[in-house]
This record gives sequence, structure tokens and C-alpha cells, in this order.
Amino acid sequence: MDVKRMLEGKVAIVTGGTRGIGFSIVKKFLNAGASVVLCGSRQESVEKALGALKEENSEYPVTGMWPELTDYAAVEKAAAEVKEKFGKIDILVNNAGISARESIYDYKPEDFARIMNLNVNAVFYFIRAVVPYMKEQGGGSIVNTSSVVSLKGQAAGCGYPTSKFAVNGLTVSLARELGKDRIRVNAVAPGVTRTDMVAALPEEMVKRISAAIPLARVGEPEEVADAFLFLASDMASYVTGEVLSVDGATIP
Ligand code: NAD
Repeated sequence: MDVKRMLEGKVAIVTGGTRGIGFSIVKKFLNAGASVVLCGSRQESVEKALGALKEENSEYPVTGMWPELTDYAAVEKAAAEVKEKFGKIDILVNNAGISARESIYDYKPEDFARIMNLNVNAVFYFIRAVVPYMKEQGGGSIVNTSSVVSLKGQAAGCGYPTSKFAVNGLTVSLARELGKDRIRVNAVAPGVTRTDMVAALPEEMVKRISAAIPLARVGEPEEVADAFLFLASDMASYVTGEVLSVDGATIP
């Protein structure tokens, strides 16, 4: 299939689309022919991302919104607005997420709740809000962002891996529940990926991280976005309930 037409005619929502992995997903989807609604946490960051995309290609069919993802009513309203404007929602990418590395001895319950609210509850909220539309229109594709830490955990900051284990749980459970409605649900589990956060690390540290990866380097956001493109597209029409690692075979 021609990559430029992989998502031709599709309408996609991408949360956390303003930077990092999400921004690459948005670009990849636009270049594959989709109309994309990019969600971010603030109006300024959404407008900045839209500006950067339009500078690259003023014809990109991309718009933005900034619903409070941890508020179900706001998410439901955002989904209804997309449906109203485009007539359908084919693809939902739940990518917004935060991480933390506190020790359990310092972990504040409110910090644990904050991470679960965005990384898990908001994923459930957006899925809950779009599936009635997807069912009504005869199907859809949902792709969630998990993480390499969803397989073996991490040695500090238990909230983050816990949230990503939950993302995997939602993914495989909903794949089973929604298959009959022709809605596929998958996840991508990136390893360490060169987003702003990683770019800010000292080169020495990046080298140390890379040494534990069989492919001997960290991943690029575009490489992770390719997995989203595949799972979102009809090329993956018989793939559901999968958590696809894109981590160079990282040994946790
Ligand atoms: P990033 O910090 O560069 O981008 C995060 C995105 O989430 C931004 O678009 C931001 O606007 C959005 N966001 C953050 N808080 C939000 C909030 N409260 N409400 C709405 N949106 C919010 O992150 P990234 O590294 O690109 O990570 C994207 C996803 O990939 C996350 O789910 C993260 O857990 C996952 N991930 C990243 C890596 C990595 O190495 N970068 C590895 C594994 C998994």
C-alpha cells in the first residue's frame, strides 16, 4: 500500500499531539492522508504545534483542541465536537502521558493519583466517549501509548509503570469486548525515545542507556510513530489486542 494513502479519508484524534512522540504521530498521519485533530494540554502549545505543521505544509488538514483530559464531561464534549465537525471518528490515539521517578518512601498519594488520572482514567474517558460513534459507523481503530516499563516495571516511580500496565489491561480487554463492533484496540510500547526529555540528557547518560539496548541506540519518535500508523491503518485489519514493543529489544 502507498504510505501516502494509508489513512486516506480517515479522521483521527491524537492526544498529547503537541510534541514528542505525539507530534510525530500527527505528522505521520497527515502525510498518510488523514484529517487530524491534535489535542494538547494548553491552547498555546496547541497553537504552536499547529503553526509548525502549517509552516511545513499549509494544506495539512489539521485542527487542535485542548480539553481537560481528566474531566469526563470535557472529553465527551470534545469527542462530540469532532463527530459534529467531521461526521465520524475513525482513529483515536491516546498518547498524552506523564511520568515520575519518586521513591515509594517519598511518593505522595496525590502524585500517584495525578499520574493514574492522566495515564489511565483519561484513556478510559476518551475511549468511552468515542466508541459509540465508532460502533454506529461500523468500526474504528484505537491505539494507546504504553511503555517498555509495562512489561517488567521500573526500579523507582512505581506510579508510571503501574499506569502503563493498566493501559495494557484496557487494551487487551477492550479488544476482546469491541471486536464484535469491528473496533480494534492496540497499544505501542516504546522504549527510551529521543523526545525533548531525552535530548536534554547528557550524551554520556544516553550512551549508557544505549549500551543496554541490543540495537545500541535510543529510538526516534518517527520510528515509534510508524508503529502507530501501521496499527491505525487497514494494513492491521486483523490485528487487535496487541501491545507492540518498539524498543530495539531493550532488556528491562
Ligand atoms: P512529551 O512530554 O514530549 O509529550 C507529552 C504530551 O502529552 C504533550 O503533547 C503534552 O501536551 C501532553 N500532556 C502532558 N500532560 C498533559 C495533560 N495534563 N493533559 C493533556 N495533555 C498532556 O512526552 P513523550 O515522551 O512524547 O511521551 C508521549 C507518550 O509516550 C507518553 O504516554 C509516554 O508515557 C510514552 N512513552 C514515552 C517514552 C519516551 O522515552 N519518550 C517511552 C515510553 C513511553
